[in-house]
Parts: sequence; C-alpha cells; structure tokens
Amino acid sequence: MSTACSTNWPPRGASSMLGEFDIIRRFFTRDVGARHDILVGIGDDAAVVEPGAGVLVAAVDALVDGVHFPVSTPARAIGHRALAVNLSDLAAMGATPRWATLALSLPHADANWLADFAAGFFELADVHDVALIGGDTVRGPLQVTVQILGVLDGQPLRRGGAGVGHAVYVSGSVGDAAAGLRMLSRDNLAHPLAQRFLYPQPRVELGQQLRPFASACIDISDGLACDLQRLAAACGCGARIQLEQLPLSAALRAEFGVDEQHYLALNGGDDYELCFTVAPDKQQAFNAWCKQSAQPVTCIGSLVEGAALVLMDHAEIVARPWSGFDHFAEDE
Ligand code: ADP
Ligand code: MG
Repeated sequence: MSTACSTNWPPRGASSMLGEFDIIRRFFTRDVGARHDILVGIGDDAAVVEPGAGVLVAAVDALVDGVHFPVSTPARAIGHRALAVNLSDLAAMGATPRWATLALSLPHADANWLADFAAGFFELADVHDVALIGGDTVRGPLQVTVQILGVLDGQPLRRGGAGVGHAVYVSGSVGDAAAGLRMLSRDNLAHPLAQRFLYPQPRVELGQQLRPFASACIDISDGLACDLQRLAAACGCGARIQLEQLPLSAALRAEFGVDEQHYLALNGGDDYELCFTVAPDKQQAFNAWCKQSAQPVTCIGSLVEGAALVLMDHAEIVARPWSGFDHFAEDE
C-alpha cells in the first residue's frame, strides 16, 4: 500500500466505502494474542515470528480465477482452497504449518464475498492452528496467493531419495476432485465429488507421521500420473502402478465407468492426497504403523528401473491416456 499513511493501527476509514485498510481490518485481522510465536503480526511493514527449534519450511501458491477454479466457485471455497493447496505442500515435506501471508487481488471490494472468503480461509487455518500474519491487498483480476511458513525439527520428506523396489503408496482416494470439477460444470455444487474439489483436506498430520517411514513423498496437485512421475524422476527411477489397486471412492465408482474412473484417478488433479514410497527395510514397521493408525493409505505399485510410468491391470501391461496438467504445455 502506498497511497495511505497511518500512525494508528488499525486505521478506521473516514468514508463508508470499503477501502483497503477496512478490508484488512474487518476481514483479515484477528487477535493472535495467544500465539507467543508471533512477535509482530498484521499492521506493520512486515511480520516477525519466532520459529523455535528446527528449520523453517516455506511454500507459495497462486490461485487464478478461471485457471485454478471455475469463475462460479463460491468465495468460501476459494478461501479454503487457497490455504489448502499450500498446506498440502507442507504436508508433503512432513512439516508443521504455523504462519501464512495472503496476497489478494480483487476486482472490487464486496463485503459479502470477503466475509465468505475469510470464513473459508480461517475455518481451515483454525483446524491446523495457522495464523495469518500479513499480506497485500490490491485491485485487479481475482487472484489469491498464499504463502505458508512452517517448521520442521529433523529431516524433511523429499521427492527424491527413494530407489527401485520401494513400494508406492497413495493416501485417501484419487480422481474425486477432477470428477467434482465436472459436477461443478453441471452446477451440482452439493455433490460429494464437487465438495472434494471445493474443499480439499490437506494431509498435514499424515505427512508428519510419515517422516520415519517414507523414502520420498509428493502431494498430488496435477494428477497421480504426473506427480508420481515427478517423484520417480527425482529418484532416477520409473514407476509401476496397478490399476486394480487404485483407491477409488464409492462416489466416483457410482458416477463413472471403469475406464473413466482410471482416467480421472490418473490424470485428475486437485486431490491434494500424498503419494509416497516406503523402502523394503521399513516395510514391516510401516505395516505395523498402518494397522494401529487410522490413516487411509493404499499400496498402488512400486518404483522400477527406467524412466517410464508403467500401468498394469493385474499381470497385464495396459496402455491408457495419461498426462498431468501443465500450464505451459500448449506453448511448446
Ligand atoms: P505496506 O504498504 O507496508 O506493504 P500495507 O499497507 O499493504 O503495507 O499493509 C498493511 C498491513 O496489512 C501489513 O501488515 C500487511 O502485511 C497487512 N495486510 C495487507 N493485506 C493483507 C491481507 N489480505 N491479509 C492479511 N494481512 C494483510
Ligand atoms: Mg511498508
């Protein structure tokens, strides 16, 4: 902000119009008094936090209207998703999220929209005890950029580091969010699949719990096929997936034929599940942990020699269309 200058924070606007300061004060400034790790929050030139022991982990993701969500997406879902996609990145590293900043570009200041957006953002922030400590508010096309900061005491999970023979797992179910996007295009927002697209639940707790077991990890944002290939490439391997082992939700099975289920599970993005590997020497300990934990994880294949993603249906190699989403693919 460069046009206003204030000595009292939060400044109270003289006019009844919703100005930049009003937006920040009314919708994004919350009491963080209980958070002793926040030395300076919203209202100064920068936030100051106390990370404590361990290392700092940072990620940032931008959501653009019409690119990352349909233009008709409810404001509450945009607020939720903007934070969720970032939490998912920290989950994939096994980190604990703590603070977020929010850069918001809005075509106009609509109080109802902002209230819903903030409700979606803070509902999820509260689940993970994430505090909003700063941001920027500008006029422009609708675009939401959240930066997340977290901490990690020990080694992060990484995309690389696993090897041939490590088992490949995925959390939850895959394909639901992409299926949900189709429901949204039919204006069926209440459908459980549409809700999976609108309100993804990042696997923050699972990511932290996987640190003793996983040899590599990635979150699924662009589709299982694409993201598993990224993990495998970082490990210098290929990967083999058993189609019959893919975890598919009852809702997905109810709506689509088998080929379409596989297509959505492999190519559909936005699930924000974790895809990770377990080395043979950790398998027994991991199996024991799986039994006593309530976390939904499914073994779907393994890392193999080479660089390809091989799809198997039981013992048969099958050819299926697959490719993840690439923002610049059409430019090539
Ligand atoms: P500056 O001009 O120094 O960049 P601003 O006037 O833009 O600061 O912002 C004032 C304060 O409000 C800063 O602490 C900033 O981090 C915070 N802020 C601005 N926009 C947001 C937002 N959308 N969400 C949370 N905090 C925000
Ligand atoms: Mg400043």
